[in-house]
Amino acid sequence: MATKVTKTVCRWCHADCRVQVHSENGRLVKIEEDPTDPRFDKISPRTKGCPRMLAARENIEHPDRIRFPLKRTGERGEDRWEQISWDQALDEIADRLTALKNTYGPECLMATQGTARHTMWTGPRFMNLFGSPNTASQGTICYGPATSTATAILGWPVQYRADDQVPFDSSGKPIPRCLLFLGMTLSESHPRLWKTARDAKRMGTKVIVMDPRRTRTTDLADIWLQHRPGTDTALLMAMIQTIIEEGLYDKAFVDRWCYGFDQLAERANEYRPEKAEAITWVPADRIREAAVMYATHGPAKTQHGMGTEQLENCIEAIQARIILAAIMGNIDVEGGDFITGLPAGTSVPMDLAGLELPEKLPPAQKAKQIGDGRFKLLSHSGREMIWAYNKDMWAGNANLRAYAHFPLILRTVLTGKPYPVRACLTMFSNPLLTQANAKLVYKALKSLDLYVVKDLFMTPSAQLADYVLPSAAWIERPNVEPFGGAFRIVAGEAALPAIVPGEHEYYTDYDFYRGLGIRLGQETYWAWKSLEEFYDSALKPTGMDLRAFMDKEDGVYWPEEVYRKYETMGGFATPSGKLELYSNIFEQLGYDPLPRYEEPKESPLSRPDLTAQYPMMLITGGRFRPFFHSEHRQIASLRRKYPHPIVQIHPETAQKAGIEDGDWVWIETVRGRIRQKCLCFDGIHPQVVHCEHGWWFPELPGEEPWLRGMWESNINVLTDDDPERCNPRSGGWPLKTALCNVYKCEVY
Ligand code: SF4
Repeated sequence: MATKVTKTVCRWCHADCRVQVHSENGRLVKIEEDPTDPRFDKISPRTKGCPRMLAARENIEHPDRIRFPLKRTGERGEDRWEQISWDQALDEIADRLTALKNTYGPECLMATQGTARHTMWTGPRFMNLFGSPNTASQGTICYGPATSTATAILGWPVQYRADDQVPFDSSGKPIPRCLLFLGMTLSESHPRLWKTARDAKRMGTKVIVMDPRRTRTTDLADIWLQHRPGTDTALLMAMIQTIIEEGLYDKAFVDRWCYGFDQLAERANEYRPEKAEAITWVPADRIREAAVMYATHGPAKTQHGMGTEQLENCIEAIQARIILAAIMGNIDVEGGDFITGLPAGTSVPMDLAGLELPEKLPPAQKAKQIGDGRFKLLSHSGREMIWAYNKDMWAGNANLRAYAHFPLILRTVLTGKPYPVRACLTMFSNPLLTQANAKLVYKALKSLDLYVVKDLFMTPSAQLADYVLPSAAWIERPNVEPFGGAFRIVAGEAALPAIVPGEHEYYTDYDFYRGLGIRLGQETYWAWKSLEEFYDSALKPTGMDLRAFMDKEDGVYWPEEVYRKYETMGGFATPSGKLELYSNIFEQLGYDPLPRYEEPKESPLSRPDLTAQYPMMLITGGRFRPFFHSEHRQIASLRRKYPHPIVQIHPETAQKAGIEDGDWVWIETVRGRIRQKCLCFDGIHPQVVHCEHGWWFPELPGEEPWLRGMWESNINVLTDDDPERCNPRSGGWPLKTALCNVYKCEVY
């Protein structure tokens, strides 16, 4: 039998490795790394050894995959279902949405979506055309803060995504002389950056890492700043203060291109290293040493991860990170923090935010977005203010999105205030596991009139749905993936058939939203009959359709990188036309224009009343392979390698609590308790514990109260989503700071 080889893009994590899929008669035979990808030498070792890739067939052909649409027959959560056709599912969902819209208005529909395991623009496009502003997204705590902060203060995102890598010159030497990483476990989450950072370090590049935990990234560091969780802004401001005080900043760049230096210097003076030491636990001399190393080894590159994005003080920390790079002239230079945009007038193949059609949502509906008016930076009002400054300068939409605020939507669902929210569409996301305050998420999902989930497997969230719909995985759909936050793209084709009559009927997100949209009068906007047809059209600016694009030697689109674009484009896309150290947009939105450190609202300093019962600081969400967020727990070969959730506890702390390595322990906050297995780990401060996220147990029963073990070890039973604790600018909820206690679980 002839073997077919198809190039496609793996989406089991954000590394976007392109792979060659060998199949026979529509069945997977094997997957290999793709040597035609120009990033091959950086990708290959990672793809080859990737445990998720090694388990690909087990995953794709898993007997528990949802193969046909399911409709609930019992009570919600009873796990009783009947198989129905796609036509029946789409007809019924469309009818029920129409009835709800007629009763409550289009804003009664909310949507949740995950992080890029699907075709992300399709959902918001449907929602905007339906008339609802209430698309909630993990983007509020992942990617959105970096994008919106950078765009507000310098007019466009700076490159930081997983596809990033350290640049090398033509002789093979690393271009940055210093790398500063904040809250990132590169080996687990950023394969190319990890490989290239190690290569660069070997060739003499300095590495500085800020992280409360020892990781393989901190092992690489010349200077590891092990700070108290949540204090990143104070630490960065102290570095800025040192650089200004010692006159190390790039005066020529600051004078010519930056706005608000004097105000910044005044604010930075509030964070002298001695003061920062008291806040962060990092010795003042160490802070100064790091600041001088960063300032004297240019060009230098900074990069932050979820450890920064998910802080209570996230926007302020990101703002300080960008300011640090800016005062050293490290913005948009080779080896520094690259501005990823293309100038206005350039044809853009995949303008993802533009494809969402935000202009189709009427202003009166935008104004109803839950959370706008309070958390403005990531909602419609902030997006439109930022957009007004950058739309004439840059091509495309800067990846700017407007998200409804998930914690406030939950409260709206439960109270009906300010208006009823009664239905939810969940695409490739598992809010019971991935949203803070899982108990509240559960109550809200249970109370909906209509809940639709589209996914690969029956997740705890899907157990509460009215309809559960089967999704095409990355290998069963084409995928044109822009990366780097720019318009550079890597493409792949569907390698296996999504529909095999009698076996499975997987729909892409495009198929689903198109089917639903056509039933609801949106046919004009879903003119492409398939995702392939859409990509043929989207790739036109490259002069190719998808087939021709794949046939070209490398299968990527990679415009030349142009540096110091502000010199030829007349400055920065901001109100002052300069890079704003003092942000006019933040000020216009009613926020502090400069970074200011705020003590987390649940810390030993801010809540001394809690510390007798909850003396430890809890951080969550460090990445660990082979899993990716809440995925892959049903893949037997991966679970054999990593069977249990792990909590890291310092050996002294464990000993005092009578806990031994390998014991199951309770981790408890004011919101509840869960169990994870103790790993005694001296790379964490004795007063800090780290818990893994995303844990559920697909092998446990689906019906309530089990919901596939979602209450056992799910860290989000313990996290908080109180809007008072969310970042005042973005609404991001705090996943890195809480007070907890740990004690041995006597019976398990
Ligand atoms: S799961 Fe593995 S192969 Fe797939 S993109 Fe991530 S690192 Fe690459």
